[in-house]
Amino acid sequence: MTGNREIHLANRPQGWPTEDTFRLVETDVPTPGPGQLVVRNQYLSVDPYMRGRMNDVKSYVPPFALDAPLDGAAVGEVVASESPDVAVGDTVLHGLGWREYALLDATSARPVDPSLAPVSAYLGVLGMPGLTAYAGLLEVAAMKPGETVFVSAAAGAVGSLVGQIAKLKGAARVVGSAGSPAKVERLRALGFDAAFDYHDGVRESLQAAAPDGIDVYFDNVGGDHLEAAISAMNLHGRVAVCGMIAQYNATEPPAAPRNLTLVIGKRLTLRGFLVNDHNDMRSTFVSDVSGWLREGKLSYDETVVDGIENAPDAFLGLLRGDNVGKMLVKV
Ligand code: NDP
Repeated sequence: MTGNREIHLANRPQGWPTEDTFRLVETDVPTPGPGQLVVRNQYLSVDPYMRGRMNDVKSYVPPFALDAPLDGAAVGEVVASESPDVAVGDTVLHGLGWREYALLDATSARPVDPSLAPVSAYLGVLGMPGLTAYAGLLEVAAMKPGETVFVSAAAGAVGSLVGQIAKLKGAARVVGSAGSPAKVERLRALGFDAAFDYHDGVRESLQAAAPDGIDVYFDNVGGDHLEAAISAMNLHGRVAVCGMIAQYNATEPPAAPRNLTLVIGKRLTLRGFLVNDHNDMRSTFVSDVSGWLREGKLSYDETVVDGIENAPDAFLGLLRGDNVGKMLVKV
């Protein structure tokens, strides 16, 4: 083991973060104390929620500290252990990403089995984004067979799984929106019945893709997507409000949705959720998703950026839409 490199938050961005938001810092590789482990991280997750943690505001997760390493999900190999419960060589999932070597209590590491799936999958399809898609669609939006489902950011980690799980669970029609023709093409290959590039106009494109309306909207974007979905909703439609990425870098309040009064007459349900509220579904989720993966019924994409020094680029790329599927950093 030589030195450790980690990414610190250098300043709090106003609007879009830039390269200057981050600082690459070299430190020593840590030494574990009693009950602790050192993990050599193999893959780091960059996620949209991290943008919110760069602001110094009260939220459901505390803000990142300035001049300290960022954190987030990571998987890696235990290289030193002072715990009887975890052995050197084990692969673990934990919350201290954005660094090459992580020092953590053994109790905060979750062992994963690298023989069951590539380790990166535990950050995506078999991890937090996968459970978000599964719980958001089936529990929060309570999708039923025969319904029409619309999902935005559909070529991303969560969205691409929402669309496929909807089909596997009997949706009659699944529509996805994404930010480029290549992504739209990918959605069709994944089995979406219709897909469109939102730059062509969300309202018109959604109407053409779902002429009989939609029953479920899985919202990853907010703004004009949410407005168009509310307009397209059938009676008793449900919106799983998962994310509003169109607003994460905004410095002004959003211009849409302007049509919330429709919620009344259509008897719509708009329900926000956090994935951590649905840990009770984890075992069913893992069993369903691993089964679908084994049977070749579910596909997942990953966009992998190499090197800790490029983690800021990976994060900025995620916000810009450079990723197809889960955005990851390979350390
Ligand atoms: P993605 O893999 O979907 O990556 C983000 C994508 O958002 C980009 O690829 C980009 O794709 C799209 N995007 C960025 N800006 C805009 C915009 N202005 N309008 C439309 N699309 C945009 O990320 P995740 O799958 O990890 O997350 C998806 C959503 O789910 C996010 O909103 C996130 O915050 C939320 N989330 C919520 C959780 C919860 O517990 N509630 C848990 C996990 C995620 P494109 O090229 O198509 O624009």
